[in-house]
Amino acid sequence: MSIEKQPSCDDPFDSLLPVEEARARLAAALQSVSETESINLFDAIGRVLSADVVSPVNVPGFVNSAMDGYAIASSSIPTNGERQLKLCGTAWAGQVFDGRVEQGEAVRIFTGGLMPPGSDTVVIQEHVKATDESVIIDSDVQPHKNVRLAGEDVQLNQRVLERGTQLNAAEVGVLASLGVNEVVVFRQLRVAYFTTGDELCELESNTGKALEPGMLFDSNRYSLRAMLSGLPIEIFDMGIVRDNPDDTRNAMQKAARLADVVITSGGVSAGDADFVTQIFHELGDVSFWKLAMRPGRPLAFGQIGNAFFFGLPGNPVAVMVTFLQFVKPAIKQMMGLKKTASFTLQATCLSHLRKSPGRVEFQRGVLGNDEYGKLTVTSTGKQGAGRISSMSAANCLIVIAANVDGVNPGDEVEVQPFHGLLS
Ligand code: AMP
Ligand code: MG
Repeated sequence: MSIEKQPSCDDPFDSLLPVEEARARLAAALQSVSETESINLFDAIGRVLSADVVSPVNVPGFVNSAMDGYAIASSSIPTNGERQLKLCGTAWAGQVFDGRVEQGEAVRIFTGGLMPPGSDTVVIQEHVKATDESVIIDSDVQPHKNVRLAGEDVQLNQRVLERGTQLNAAEVGVLASLGVNEVVVFRQLRVAYFTTGDELCELESNTGKALEPGMLFDSNRYSLRAMLSGLPIEIFDMGIVRDNPDDTRNAMQKAARLADVVITSGGVSAGDADFVTQIFHELGDVSFWKLAMRPGRPLAFGQIGNAFFFGLPGNPVAVMVTFLQFVKPAIKQMMGLKKTASFTLQATCLSHLRKSPGRVEFQRGVLGNDEYGKLTVTSTGKQGAGRISSMSAANCLIVIAANVDGVNPGDEVEVQPFHGLLS
């Protein structure tokens, strides 16, 4: 792997790396998993197809009724007035009517019922005067209505899903409709993470007790875990690593053996207690980026052995934002996903947002609709990188471009919503 090293913390010009440039460098450096496995569709939710799927069948497999009603031949529809048709039987869903529908005849049919030979139209029951033996239709009946054709959803031999597609609810539904019970997917990515810091306190060792002076709870391990848990990957929690070279080295070596991706928080600045970058340089091929973004300026990225490392900053909001902007797309790419780009929305900002030019800011916002249904966004308030509660108050990130020096109420802004509907 060759990772571009400029600009770095050693960069005499102290220039900042634009976010888009960092994204492009990551995308070029990462390698996706290549090993595959065949698994049951039930276990495949969220996984990524390693081969195209070609349909072995037509869906629907046969011509059937889209409504409850009466199957008739369109030649039975009167040109004017009404016509009485003889009722010959019933076609239930899953129970075929054993016979033909001739001109002047009708068969009671239910949604999904196979259209009997001779019929090509379903008259919905609301438009029919029916007795036990006959139905009366009129000239308003539309020929070929309420009928689903064989293969109108998916055709035999059609390439339905492409290699690199994530199997979310719609895709597993499609595969099930084809009768595909086993799918070939990329193996699960293994992702390890640990936090660093002498000030960090485990939650369980402190329940009910006051924190020692200078200590704080290790929230990053929980937010990292939560963000990872939405992905179809194997997760390894490696705990808290203290601020010394030996523990950092041991943890990094162990993580590199264990995982395809390793995420750390803290210790990536140039301070005396920041060992992540230092040991990272010692063990692997590393870039240290000073990103033109806020929160989350320092980011270490590189490889130790076959594992890709992301050294995220320590501040809780910076961890989440850098994870969402860089690590999550990287994991998706490494999972074999073809489409990793997400879209953004435009909303009218109702708040005044303070910002100085030079860096992209990812501010926390609350997305909603005004009385006309138009998207609006308001700020969650103070934007410090240590205020993790601002992430919880938010439902989106407001992305303010590097060259912009502030936002006024009424300005249009770009937002990244936290929630997608299906994926
Ligand atoms: P660092 O980058 O290690 O200097 O950390 C920057 C800031 O983030 C410091 O105020 C840390 O206390 C805080 N921080 C680092 N790691 C964590 C963590 N795991 N949970 C909560 N806060 C953290
Ligand atoms: Mg630290």
